[in-house]
Amino acid sequence: MAGAGIVIAIDGVVGSGKSTTARLVAEALGYRHLDTGAMYRTVALAAGRQGVEPEDERALAELLPTLQIDLLPSDQGGCVVLNGEDVSEEIRRPETARRVGSFADKTMVRRALVSHQQTLGAHGGVVAEGRDMGSVVFPNAELKVRMVADLDVRTQRRLDELVATGIRTHFDEVRADIAKRDREDAQRDYGADGVAADYVELDTTSMDLTQQVAAVVDWARQRGA
Ligand code: C5P
Repeated sequence: MAGAGIVIAIDGVVGSGKSTTARLVAEALGYRHLDTGAMYRTVALAAGRQGVEPEDERALAELLPTLQIDLLPSDQGGCVVLNGEDVSEEIRRPETARRVGSFADKTMVRRALVSHQQTLGAHGGVVAEGRDMGSVVFPNAELKVRMVADLDVRTQRRLDELVATGIRTHFDEVRADIAKRDREDAQRDYGADGVAADYVELDTTSMDLTQQVAAVVDWARQRGA
C-alpha cells in the first residue's frame, strides 16, 4: 500500500459540482477517478438493451455476471467500457438516466457494483464519487467530502449547462426537478447522505471550480496524498 495514495470519497447533492470536482482532483493528484454513477448507468443501459426490467430478479441475476465494466482514462476525462464497447456517451442519454434509479435501488445491483468498486479502490490512489462512497463502499476512506450548495445556485448551474447544449428550458422547471431529486435521494437508505460524522462539508455556493478543486486537494494533502 505504501506510496499508492489515499482514498478520497466525494458525495454531494445534485448539481453541487461533484463529478467535475472529483475528476479534476483525481487529475491533480495523479489518482484514478472512480465515477460510480457511470457504473450504475451502464447497468441500466445493458439491462435496457436486453429488455431486462428491474423487477425481474432472475433475469437481473443472469445479466449481472456477464457485465464487465471498466473505467478507463481518456482525453475527455474518462471513458466507460462495457464488455469492450465504449458506452461513455450512451449512458448519458436521458432514456438511460430515467431508468438508472430503479436499477440502483436493487440490492443485487448494489452488491455487485459495491464489490467491484472496492476491488478497484483496494490499493488507494482513488477519488471515488457517489452517494454511498464514504458510508458503504469506503468507510475507512482517509478523506470524505460532502459537497453542498444553495438550490438556486445549483439550478442556475444546471440551467447554464442545459442551455449550452442547446436544450430550452426554464429556471423554475429545472429548480423543481432538482428539488425532486433532492427529496428522492434523502429517502434512500443506502445513501447515508452526509450523515457520517467524519465528512468534511464543502459548500460551493460562492465558489468556482478552481476553488473547489484546490480545497479538496489541500485536505487530501493534509491526509497524506
Ligand atoms: O452521478 P450520476 O448522475 O452519474 O449517477 C446516476 C445515478 O446512479 C444516480 O442518480 C443514482 O441513482 C445512482 N447512483 C447510486 N450510487 C452511486 C452512484 C450513483 O445509486 N454510488
